[in-house]
Amino acid sequence: MTVEKKKKIIKTIKVDVDKCNGCRACELICSAFHATPKYSSNNPARSRIRVIHEALRDIYIPVYAGEYTPAECPGRDKYVIDGKEYDECAFCRASCPSRDIFKEPDSGLPIKCDMCESDPPLDEPMCVQWCLNDALTYEVREEEAEDGEEETAEDLDISLESLVDKYGLQKIADTVARMSKRG
Ligand code: SF4
Ligand code: SF4
Repeated sequence: MTVEKKKKIIKTIKVDVDKCNGCRACELICSAFHATPKYSSNNPARSRIRVIHEALRDIYIPVYAGEYTPAECPGRDKYVIDGKEYDECAFCRASCPSRDIFKEPDSGLPIKCDMCESDPPLDEPMCVQWCLNDALTYEVREEEAEDGEEETAEDLDISLESLVDKYGLQKIADTVARMSKRG
């Protein structure tokens, strides 16, 4: 008997750094879309995409917020682009204890790009729609999932557990209560 493999959907936003002019429309719309109520405010500090800027060389690099990590990296990387050396953590996607980026400014809780999950779903994430220079391109593809690859309830428990360890259950509960009240 052939067992049909489970499929998984991979959503990607391709970033063409050469096309980014640093307008920061992506930051504005992301923060507005995730405000409660929606579009009630915009604040790039709440955005799940941040544009790293090197003024002298006119370089802008959009970076998406990735996973929360409870500990700093023991090893670091340096990037050299067009002869300019960038900070070890400049392009990292993690919400990490060693820096303020990708943290909700009021609560300090980590934020992560959720590809603008909403109901009904969007055709394209907001930052892609608002990038008039086509620096951001949305792609969706289907792949076969490896056995046990799907996210399990246990995975969710582990990430919640690390958040509770770091911030305390009361702070997380207060933040969730505050956000639901605002919504
Ligand atoms: S909206 Fe597009 S061009 Fe503007 S900063 Fe963001 S990625 Fe760059
Ligand atoms: S995909 Fe949505 S959540 Fe992610 S950075 Fe873009 S606007 Fe923000």
